[in-house]
Amino acid sequence: MRPRYPTPPDGYTPISTSAVMTFLRCGYRYWMEKEKGNPVTARMARGTALSRAAETDNRAKMAGEEKHPDELIEVARSSFSSELPAMQDKGTTILKTKASLPQAVLAWVRDLSPGIGGVTLAEKPLVGLFHEERIVLCGTPDFFANNCVRDVKTGRRWRPDDVHTSVQLTTYSWLHLLHVGTMPTAVAVDSIHRDRHGRWIGETLWSSRTPEDLQSLWETVKSVVRGIQKGVALPADPTSWHCSAAWCPLFWECPHVGDARKRAAKDREK
Ligand code: SF4
Repeated sequence: MRPRYPTPPDGYTPISTSAVMTFLRCGYRYWMEKEKGNPVTARMARGTALSRAAETDNRAKMAGEEKHPDELIEVARSSFSSELPAMQDKGTTILKTKASLPQAVLAWVRDLSPGIGGVTLAEKPLVGLFHEERIVLCGTPDFFANNCVRDVKTGRRWRPDDVHTSVQLTTYSWLHLLHVGTMPTAVAVDSIHRDRHGRWIGETLWSSRTPEDLQSLWETVKSVVRGIQKGVALPADPTSWHCSAAWCPLFWECPHVGDARKRAAKDREK
């Protein structure tokens, strides 16, 4: 299996962008996922599946080829199926989510793919070192394209504020600075989601980052690493989107989720 991040220099603490994000959202989940491997929900697996289809599409474009949408749907289906053993949802939720893959892929093909041409794909984790704190931070942005950093998100509709405040995009901007030599001129989320009529669409939301944003990133990462070193395991805000059956694979067994929330989540799944 591919390591989640490269071997750090001696005496450095390695941490991935996704680990930073998980710890910020829920310290309890961070520790439980370390114990249980990487459980996922069907919606998380669908997000990965769409990223794999987008990668395949762009790799073909860079080689001067074109993939038929059916081939991209097959890539998404295969990625989704490979995550079945790790899925924590009920069978009906998995089936419904799998059934939505073709429409989500077609939204990528129709609304997003034409605007992303000739990109450079980050094929392996990019690494940055905080020498002062002896921290290695790494991440794998979906695309570095024309001096922009872009990330594909599927399922939840992103709002402009989400893009302005995303720690993940700030991290990728820093990695862009280290690996390309400049701050990206823009950062974006390519969001694939259903509109209010239930139709799958793709939408790009733009923002930017300045060197001042990096200062706050370093403070955040330092706090996360210190929290991990001290074993902090605070639960998530129960009203946040990620503390839900759809987006947290530990929801059904989590001691921080009361019976009333579990009943409400079951009702929603019917
Ligand atoms: S259900 Fe909420 S509190 Fe429990 S692990 Fe998941 S995100 Fe954390």
